[in-house]
Amino acid sequence: MSVLEILKYPHPLLKKRSKPVERIDEEIKRLIHDMMDTMYDAEGIGLAACQVGDPRRVIVIDVSPADPAQSLLVMVNPEIISEEGETDHEEGCLSVPDCLEKVKRRERVRARGLSPDGKAVGVEGEGILAFALQHEIDHLNGVLILDRLSGLKREIYRKKLKKKLMKEKEEQS
Ligand SMILES: [Zn+2]
Repeated sequence: MSVLEILKYPHPLLKKRSKPVERIDEEIKRLIHDMMDTMYDAEGIGLAACQVGDPRRVIVIDVSPADPAQSLLVMVNPEIISEEGETDHEEGCLSVPDCLEKVKRRERVRARGLSPDGKAVGVEGEGILAFALQHEIDHLNGVLILDRLSGLKREIYRKKLKKKLMKEKEEQS
């Protein structure tokens, strides 16, 4: 098991649509374990495979720090099958540093997919679990929180990031 590097915006893989997992084998199980290690190491509440450089549809979520009634959830090929309500929720993302913004989300969602043993699983989420499911499944579709912000907010973030990267470059040279 190992902690993997988390790709950061604007890495191109974060904008790609991930592909379905065709077979759950030892290699996928290893990926899932590495994703769990990486998520816990980064103190995140969710992670999609594309964030660690794997273009397949796998997510891990553990919102128990915010909602103790929940526990670890691993889903392969997850999809949202119904959604209800609408709310603004403040979110951050391990791949989009220094960005904590209100994003429009559904209040309740139902999702289905496969467990790490290949069994069909369904989950009903409300609140933080619902937001995490939407956020991670967005990743599998190449969508980042930046894409859910207003054009102006997105521009401000891009400019801030550009400045930060330039400063880092200057400091290195
Ligand atoms: Zn994210």
